[in-house]
Amino acid sequence: MTSFRAGAVTDTGRARAVNQDSLLVIDDRLYAVADGMGGHRGGEVASALALESLAGNLHEPSTRALVAGVTTANQVVHERSSADPELRGMGTTLIALALIVGPDGDERLAMANVGDSRAYRYRGDHLEQITEDHSLVESLVRQGRITPEEAATHPQRNIITRALGVDPQVEVDAWELPAVAGDRYLLCSDGLFNEVESATIAATLQRHGDPTEAAHELGRLANEGGGRDNITCVVVDVLDGSGRPDDEVARVGTASEPDLGGYGPATTPMPVASVFDAPAPPPVPPARPAGVGPGGGHAAAGSSGRGLEEGPTGSDGAPALIGAIPDHLPDDEGEPPPPPRRPRRFTWRVAVFVLALIALVGAVAGALVYYGRNTYYVAFNGAERVTIFRGRPDSFLLWDPTVERVTTISSADLRDTAVADVAAQPDQPTLADAEGFVANLCDRLRSTATPAECSATAATGDRPTTGTTATTAPDGAGIPGSGGGASGDSGTTGGPLPANAAPA
Ligand code: MN
Repeated sequence: MTSFRAGAVTDTGRARAVNQDSLLVIDDRLYAVADGMGGHRGGEVASALALESLAGNLHEPSTRALVAGVTTANQVVHERSSADPELRGMGTTLIALALIVGPDGDERLAMANVGDSRAYRYRGDHLEQITEDHSLVESLVRQGRITPEEAATHPQRNIITRALGVDPQVEVDAWELPAVAGDRYLLCSDGLFNEVESATIAATLQRHGDPTEAAHELGRLANEGGGRDNITCVVVDVLDGSGRPDDEVARVGTASEPDLGGYGPATTPMPVASVFDAPAPPPVPPARPAGVGPGGGHAAAGSSGRGLEEGPTGSDGAPALIGAIPDHLPDDEGEPPPPPRRPRRFTWRVAVFVLALIALVGAVAGALVYYGRNTYYVAFNGAERVTIFRGRPDSFLLWDPTVERVTTISSADLRDTAVADVAAQPDQPTLADAEGFVANLCDRLRSTATPAECSATAATGDRPTTGTTATTAPDGAGIPGSGGGASGDSGTTGGPLPANAAPA
């Protein structure tokens, strides 16, 4: 009869305000670690919800049931994320170790993994990583683009390529392993192995026989190494087991990676069952509280999204990644892997939109200024002088017309019809048009008027002289005066009409 002894620790670390990791210990049955991500409460909720769901939905001791439980947990987290805007985009890693019963009735271990939390097996003096990280740097290592040493310090090493709860479906890696007495398993979040070298992890597991002591020492070392992330460790010792050390570790295929030839870390791929032959999991029942063992508390959420702490847009905790980067690139010609998706908070699309909006507003404003300012009219100013104004008489929008030029022509100099024309303030599209209008007024002066403006234009030779103008004036103005004897009309000032005016 297989039995275990486990110890666990989870710690916020030194840099984060809160702990988004969660862990699960159900004695002799199920052990798990989840590392949540997402802003506000998202990470906390995702990791806790995933483990709660898994604990409540592991219906039989089989690899298939374990993977189905993880798949169900994915749906539960995703549905909650979709339903609550505050939790949108949240996700979590999940590494789980369960006791199963094989077809022959033999007890074995099953492991399921999504994300970049890890499971190690410590046997003798040898620490072996069982899981593969679903991370950008791991993909790059697999593709030979960077070395494992470069991956360890890569600035984007926190970007993961697979997570629970982000999409309606998830690919789950699974393994079956013999239950060998004396083996020690370590499930941990990246807050441990990013701070503590594997040799130190191995030495610590060697030094501390008690799994609780070992877990706490690992947590302490991670804090000592920087504590830049939440730290979670579950140490599981196999006390009794029927398995033999030379029994194979069998990796169970995942949906998108049917061909596992040459794939996997130091283990012989030997699928024993395809968990994906199973029918789709039944509708998600409400998760019931599971028997969470010692150390199984769910930690609090963080304000910072994991995976983005070093990215330019990761300041407030959106999920880092998400979008599977293929582990195998068939016939890869050296094209770089697709960049991980970024949270869509302020993207180049938004920037382009804002710039376009600014340009549009500017264009409209420019057009209005052009319309309001690039025109002229002629009117009498306050001193009754004929004046060329720039702008529009109605003070279009906020732009008052400005005086372009004040002439010496007064309203008294002009015949009544000309005064009426000026009073109508006709638009002059250009300054030349306005000047032409003024020049035309010089043709319509009262006979005695000699404004300098018109004298000046006369001097150019372009216009009739004032004398000529004056002599023509009575032709129009004198008729009503001579006929009706109206004293108020031009006859009072018209030189040529004294004979008519005198009798009156
Ligand atoms: Mn982490």
